[in-house]
Amino acid sequence: MQRNRLFSRTRWRLAFSYAAAMAVILGIMGGVWYVTTQHILMFSATKELESFVGVMHNEMEANLSKPGEVSKDVLAFMPQMCLNGNKCPEKKQQFHRYLKSILVNEYHIQMFDKSSKLIAVTDNQLPPKLNIIPAKQQLIISVSDGNYYLQKTILLHDNQEREWGYLQVSRDLQDVADNLKEVRWLLTVGLPIAWMVILIASWLLAGSAMKPIYRSYQHIQQFTADAAHELRTPLAATQATVESTLLQPGAEWPQIQEVLIIIQRQNQRLIQLVADLLLLSRIDLRAYGGKSTGFRQEWEACCLNNIVADLDEELAAMAIAADIQFNTVMGVNHALWVWGNSEQLYRLVTNLIVNAIKYTPPKGQVTVFLRQRNRMAIIQVQDTGVGIDPKAQKRIFDRFYRVYNNRSRHDGGSGLGLAIVKSIATLHRGRLNVQSKVGQGSLFTLELPKLGTRVKKPKY
Ligand code: ADP
Repeated sequence: MQRNRLFSRTRWRLAFSYAAAMAVILGIMGGVWYVTTQHILMFSATKELESFVGVMHNEMEANLSKPGEVSKDVLAFMPQMCLNGNKCPEKKQQFHRYLKSILVNEYHIQMFDKSSKLIAVTDNQLPPKLNIIPAKQQLIISVSDGNYYLQKTILLHDNQEREWGYLQVSRDLQDVADNLKEVRWLLTVGLPIAWMVILIASWLLAGSAMKPIYRSYQHIQQFTADAAHELRTPLAATQATVESTLLQPGAEWPQIQEVLIIIQRQNQRLIQLVADLLLLSRIDLRAYGGKSTGFRQEWEACCLNNIVADLDEELAAMAIAADIQFNTVMGVNHALWVWGNSEQLYRLVTNLIVNAIKYTPPKGQVTVFLRQRNRMAIIQVQDTGVGIDPKAQKRIFDRFYRVYNNRSRHDGGSGLGLAIVKSIATLHRGRLNVQSKVGQGSLFTLELPKLGTRVKKPKY
């Protein structure tokens, strides 16, 4: 397949098409994964911030006694807070144990009085700006260090229910950014690797899917070449005969008659060859589910006893002419019916018997048996002819194959007879085999499913 440019190109095109489709799917899935991860991380950061703010709110409101003033109790609760204007504690102190338990990330707290003046901070690297936003909402802010923060601002009351000011908590989103960076890294490295693996797998799969097509393409090519060769031989012979006759202007009638007989013989061969090719193509068409015309009869119940008896009569003269003893043995005392096309079944058995007569020397024997075994009807054609060597036995059912090329062609054989036999047998869901010994003879056995058993009628 590699050597055929058309197939090799089609294989790559198929592989790239699969891979391109998969790249789009992977890209969409990667995007969905990224967005979902971002959503989940932001959701958990928001929840964490909300519960942090909730704890702060409860603890502070109980300890705030005067609007705009941070009480000692609040400072005890959050020792790392520094009041605006004062120096912040050098050594960062821990949050209160309640807050510590929910803290995973860095939090920055700012407290503003009612007039938006900064009162206290836990960290002065954030801009001292009060961002009031509607309740239950958060804001994402970015600061000069390039970091992003999720910020929530709530209104605080003192322990006498007076409005105290605002508590603004900002959660560092660095961990979210780090996680998303990892996901982006995985996507940038993972997606191209996955795409390459898919491309290789697609190439291999396209190859194995195309193998049967390539094989049948080769068969068709071989068949076309063989058919052209077979057609050319009689045509070339006719052409040569006509040309040589034309070179003899004063030819007499007996000479012309001789030429016409040669042309007629070659023509006959051509007609037979074309008829065989047509029959094979019709059987193929039918076998692959197409609607073929050209068979006189449709499918019906066929009596094998009648077919064998008719052929016994029809081919007796041919056997006598070839000095062959021709017998028929009916091994059943009742009619054997099969589902099929009787015209084709006649053709099948005729080909087997004609071959047997053709490849058996004078004084030989050809016997046709009709038998039954279990649910199968069996027709056997046995001869005491030249036989077929084991290597050739494997190929005799191939189209245009002949064991003895010259002899067969001289006898009018095209090498299509057994190919037709095989195709008809297969179309009738039958089995065909040959046993043969060179110099001793051959036995062709055809098994067909009997009617009246539970064999389904084919839907042709
Ligand atoms: P052909 O038209 O040449 O007879 P077939 O397809 O009928 O073509 O047979 C293929 C080849 O199989 C023949 O060329 C012949 O060599 C061999 N063959 C077929 N039937 C017999 C037989 N009964 N005995 C010996 N050889 C046979």
